Amino acid sequence: MKNIVLFGPPGAGKGTQATILKEKYELMHISTGDLFRYHKSNHTELGQLAKKYADEGKLVPDQVTIDMLEEEVNKNLDKNGFIFDGYPRTISQAEALDKFLEAKGKKVNGIIALEVPQDLLEARLLERGETSGRSDDMNIEKIRIRFQEYNTKTAVLKDYYFPKGNYHGVNGVGSIEEITARLSEVFDTL
Ligand code: AMP
Repeated sequence: MKNIVLFGPPGAGKGTQATILKEKYELMHISTGDLFRYHKSNHTELGQLAKKYADEGKLVPDQVTIDMLEEEVNKNLDKNGFIFDGYPRTISQAEALDKFLEAKGKKVNGIIALEVPQDLLEARLLERGETSGRSDDMNIEKIRIRFQEYNTKTAVLKDYYFPKGNYHGVNGVGSIEEITARLSEVFDTL
């Protein structure tokens, strides 16, 4: 089983690349952002709760997110492994993921970070907002709140994973195919 965390700020291309790599490596793609959007559009209790945060560009509280992620993994234990996209986003989530996988005799095999300069991220998100229908992509204020959340709560995960020796930075600027090729080089070593 191969469990990969695809890491990076909003707009880095995690979702785009996970969709391609899940086919190539026969892994299940779990995006916590997609799961929250699914719950929101289905008006579940979890969706109502997540909406308050997600619509503002803020992170949903850890325990809610951790429970949702674990439930999704538990439903799919027959899979070859997972590509986690947008999870973990805090130290608590990373610790919870390690503990959760360890209890199953598994681990995170690698963290691959897509590195993209901030001005390009903003442009990508605004462009995506024109077609994605995502309200959090259409408003520059909300985009900036998401970057602030990333910079204050998520970016520190590099310091969490790097000493474990399984953190890999990849240049996220280029064509989709170029970036898939760079990510595949790392995937093949994990
Ligand atoms: P994304 O599609 O990954 O950009 O996520 C969209 C929104 O869902 C985020 O702005 C958060 O409000 C929420 N979200 C997604 N993943 C997480 C997570 N791991 N922890 C907390 N909130 C999350």
